[in-house]
Amino acid sequence: MIQSIFEEVMSAPEKGHLADYIPALANQPKDLFAVYIIDEKGEVLTFGDFNVVLTLQSISKVMSFIVAADNLGIDQVLEKVDVEPTGDPFNSIVRLEVAEKGKPFNPMINAGAITVASLLPGENVEARVKSVTDFISQVTAREHSVNQEVFQSEMETAYRNRAIANYLKANDYLRGTVEEALETYLQLCSIELTTEDLAKLGLFICSDGLLLTENKSLITRKTARYTKALMMTCGLYNASGKYAATIGMPMKSGVSGGVLCTVQNGQIEHLQGRMGIGVFSPMIDEIGNSVKGMDFLQKISEHYNLSVF
Ligand code: GLN
Repeated sequence: MIQSIFEEVMSAPEKGHLADYIPALANQPKDLFAVYIIDEKGEVLTFGDFNVVLTLQSISKVMSFIVAADNLGIDQVLEKVDVEPTGDPFNSIVRLEVAEKGKPFNPMINAGAITVASLLPGENVEARVKSVTDFISQVTAREHSVNQEVFQSEMETAYRNRAIANYLKANDYLRGTVEEALETYLQLCSIELTTEDLAKLGLFICSDGLLLTENKSLITRKTARYTKALMMTCGLYNASGKYAATIGMPMKSGVSGGVLCTVQNGQIEHLQGRMGIGVFSPMIDEIGNSVKGMDFLQKISEHYNLSVF
């Protein structure tokens, strides 16, 4: 059944557009589509180009929140960023001026993520980025690096992000300089991985931070719980509420067309219990979510009854 859902979504008429505001992402082949699902016993289901490498983009907001929260403690992170959804686009600036004290609303939008990037452990950009790639590597059991072409491309066009970072600095939310926070954030967005890695990260998060392959806890339960709540309420930009209703699983998307999804408990064919799902298809909608990715997740959520609600 899941194979036919994949094929149905794959053959649907082309919709959406590439993330062409980042020149390096405007050149991706439009028709890529990949899914990787892993359960707590290590059983997997794969479809399409699952080995293709993508950049994390906004999905990195989840990993940097985990590393910062686990390092500093949630309470210290919450002094600089809230956990409220906004209903605004991911790169919106408006609330930084009108909200009380200009505090960023949550770590899943750019304002919150740039703040969190500045709070990462390490005294310079390189060390802060490494704290996140090291964490990802612990979960995926392989090395991850920054795609320099994507990073440079983003730095050259980061007009809004730089403006956001300046507002944050003016209101005293950033550690270090504006450029350090911006560079750290954009390097994190440019970390490369595959749908297999996304699936493993999803499984790790829904397992409350337990690395099942080693039976080892890497983060606190509290950090995992906050992460899942943030993904459910803020993970899909200003479509988070809609997808909480129609799909009902904690997820995070990025403009590269990747989606990291967590299944708290369910059954998909012979896979059971907790699962992580990595999806990639680069054509995104106006809000920034993968068109085929969201379509596929919605169809499997309905068919296998995967919603947490
Ligand atoms: N690098 C992107 C940006 O900040 C990430 C955006 C995204 O994936 N929504 O513009």
